[in-house]
Amino acid sequence: MLENEYIEFTIPRQKHIALIAHDNKKDDMVKWVQENHAILSSHFLCGTGTTARLIAEQTHLPVTAYNSGPLGGDQQIGARIVEGRVDFVVFFWDPLESQPHDPDVKALLRIAAVYDVPLATNRATADFMLTSTFMDEEYQRKVLNYNAIVTSRAGEFGKEISGKN
Ligand code: PGA
Repeated sequence: MLENEYIEFTIPRQKHIALIAHDNKKDDMVKWVQENHAILSSHFLCGTGTTARLIAEQTHLPVTAYNSGPLGGDQQIGARIVEGRVDFVVFFWDPLESQPHDPDVKALLRIAAVYDVPLATNRATADFMLTSTFMDEEYQRKVLNYNAIVTSRAGEFGKEISGKN
C-alpha cells in the first residue's frame, strides 16, 4: 500500500531553491535568474559558492552561499535535501566537460531522486518547472519509507546472526 511504502513531505508554497551552475553555464544561469527575477524573489534561494555570489551580485536577490562545488558545495546541498531544507534544485551542469567533482554531482542527482525533489538540469526543464502551477501551491513529494525497510532488514540479519551462534 502506498501509505506504507512511501512517506509524504510537503514542498511549501514558498520553496527553498538551490541554484548551481558549472563554469560554462554560469552566464546562462545569471540570465535565467534575471528573466525570472519576479518569481524567484518570492522564494528562498541558495547555491554553490561562486554561482550564489554571481547571482547575488548581478540580480541583487538574496542567495545563501554554500561552499564552492569542487570544495563540497554540491554535497552540502545534497545534505540539505536529506534534512528537508532544500526542496527544489536548478542545476545547469556542463555535459561537455568533465569536472573534478563529478562524483559529487552524481551523488546530488541521486539524492534528489531518492527524496523526490524536483531538479532541472537544463534551461528548458527549469522553464517548465518555474511555470508549473505547483509553484504557487504546496506539493506532496513521496519518499520511500525506509523505516519499514530498515526494520525488516534488521530482522532478517538478526535471524541470520543468531542462527550462526
Ligand atoms: P560553484 O560550484 O558555483 O562554486 O562554481 C558549482 C559546481 O561546480 O558544482
